[in-house]
Amino acid sequence: MRQKIIAGNWKMHKTTDEARQFVQALQEKLTDCRAAVVICPPFTALAAVAEVLAGSKLALGAQNMHWADQGAYTGEISPLMLQDCGCRYVILGHSERRQYFGETDGQVNQKVKAALAHGLLPVVCVGETLAQRQGGLTETVVGSQTAAALAGLTPEQVAGLVIAYEPVWAIGTGQTASEQDAQQVNQYIRALLAEQYGQAAAAAVRILYGGSVKPANAASLLAQPDIDGALVGGASLKAADFLGIIQAV
Ligand code: PEP
Repeated sequence: MRQKIIAGNWKMHKTTDEARQFVQALQEKLTDCRAAVVICPPFTALAAVAEVLAGSKLALGAQNMHWADQGAYTGEISPLMLQDCGCRYVILGHSERRQYFGETDGQVNQKVKAALAHGLLPVVCVGETLAQRQGGLTETVVGSQTAAALAGLTPEQVAGLVIAYEPVWAIGTGQTASEQDAQQVNQYIRALLAEQYGQAAAAAVRILYGGSVKPANAASLLAQPDIDGALVGGASLKAADFLGIIQAV
C-alpha cells in the first residue's frame, strides 16, 4: 500500500513571514491526515518553515537544486545546503525549469543522483506540452523524460522515488487532465518502470499527478489506482484550498 503524498509547490511566492503564518495555520487545522504532506517554499523561506515544522508530521521540500556539493556556481543551492535547512524532498525537472531555464534531461539526471546520494527524496517531474499531446506524442515524451531522469539508478533507488506526471498544458491554466487521462499516463510510467527495474520497484514508486489540482477535482484524481498523490501549485498557496486537497485523500 503506497502512502499518498500531497506536495505544495509555492514557486516564487511568499515572504518568510507569510510562509511562517501559512504553515502555522495549516498545522493547527490539520489534525488527522492520511497523506504525507510536503511544503516546498522558495529557498528564502526554507529555514523559517523548517523552524515551524520542527517535530511535526509535515515535511519540507525545495523546488530545485544544483547537483554539486559546493563550488563556483553563482546563484545556485546545493544538496548539502538543502539538508542543512531540514529538507526531506526536492522537486527536480519541473517544466518551468525546463521551459524557462533550459534545464535538460541530462541535468535532471545529475540532480536526481545527487539528491539520492545526500538522502533527499527527489520528486521528478515529467510531462508533455499541448502540441506534443495533440501530436500523439504523450507517451514518447513522458517515457523518454522518465528514462533519462532515472538513467543509472538501481531498482532499490527507483523504488524510493517520487515521480510527478505534470502535463505542461495543465500547469497553472485551470485545465486539469481528466482522471482517465492522468491515470493512463501514470499507469504507462509504472509499466515502463516495471520493464526496466522490475515489478517490485514499479509497485513501490509513488507517481503523483500535477496540473491545476483543486479541492473540487482532487478526490476523483486521487481515487485512480496509479495516482499516488498530487503536486499542487496555485491551490497550495491558500490554506483552505490546500487543506481541501489533503482532506480528499
Ligand atoms: C505545479 O507547478 O507543479 C503545478 C501543478 O501548478 P498548478 O497546480 O498551479 O497547475
